[in-house]
Amino acid sequence: MRIGFIGLGNMGAGMAANQAKAGREVLAFDLSSAAIAKAISAGCQGAASAREAVATADVVITMLPAGPQVRSLYAQTLIPHAKAGALLIDCSTIDVDSARAVAAEARAAGYRAADAPVSGGTAAADAGTLAFMVGGDPADFTDVQTALAPMARVVIEAGTSGAGQAAKICNNMLLGISMIGTCEAFALAEKLGLAADRFFEIASKSSGQCWSVTSYCPVEGVGPQTPADRGYQGGFATAMMLKDLKLAQEAAAQVGAATPLGASAEALYALLAAQGFASTDFSAMLPWLKGEATKLLN
Ligand code: NAD
Repeated sequence: MRIGFIGLGNMGAGMAANQAKAGREVLAFDLSSAAIAKAISAGCQGAASAREAVATADVVITMLPAGPQVRSLYAQTLIPHAKAGALLIDCSTIDVDSARAVAAEARAAGYRAADAPVSGGTAAADAGTLAFMVGGDPADFTDVQTALAPMARVVIEAGTSGAGQAAKICNNMLLGISMIGTCEAFALAEKLGLAADRFFEIASKSSGQCWSVTSYCPVEGVGPQTPADRGYQGGFATAMMLKDLKLAQEAAAQVGAATPLGASAEALYALLAAQGFASTDFSAMLPWLKGEATKLLN
């Protein structure tokens, strides 16, 4: 299988490398020549242009920053220049409308298209253990699964075009809300004189249990290793969480869904980002709520 891979950033670099490791011929392109050089050292072939990367590929995978980049790459390069009948899979996190628009344009031009955003950060991208949520034509799902397999722990069918993106933003809205709730609960527990490791054990086995408590505890030295144990560096950046919460609010406004906690989460993450924590892990919400975040900047 010949793969055209466009967007070799924090996520795409590891994903393209895993395709090459699985023995696939990968034609890799990015606007950054350093990113292409890195892909070549990981076993991919460097393409001189996006057009070259897609012209002979059976499957084109894109991993770009946001909706505008995806729309323009589809309009200018994929739809006019991809191989006839190619399967186009966008793994970027983008707005549902853009995902539906590019899939419709691709189908009208005779391509097969799917949105397949991912859950899991750069460590999962490097390890080939991402979770993919797929929106597209059900008839294409098996081929999408086969194409994504070297990068995946699991590939889940979400529904028709845009459903993958809908699943991604709903999941991340829930994650943002649950992380803030978790941080509030740990901050209150501390003020009440309850030790964090005791509250961790109790909440993990009680009805407050959630992924933010059990698997990504925001308290240093409590629970499994998380960004809290390394000064809230690495992990899932506050700016990324804010991007996903904004997408969720835009989608909610368009369809008239009431998401008051999602709106509050967006406002709180916007404040955290504006105060200098855009690149710190999103669990830095805890020191911030406690008024202790500025020491992370020193
Ligand atoms: P990134 O900014 O590191 O990488 C994006 C890459 O796309 C860059 O290398 C950039 O040069 C390239 N690019 C932009 N426009 C291009 C174009 N027209 N042609 C070719 N290359 C182009 O971003 P990332 O962290 O890799 O994230 C990619 C996507 O995955 C985003 O939509 C993000 O929301 C999503 N995501 C990221 C994470 C994470 O932890 N980083 C987790 C889940 C999902």
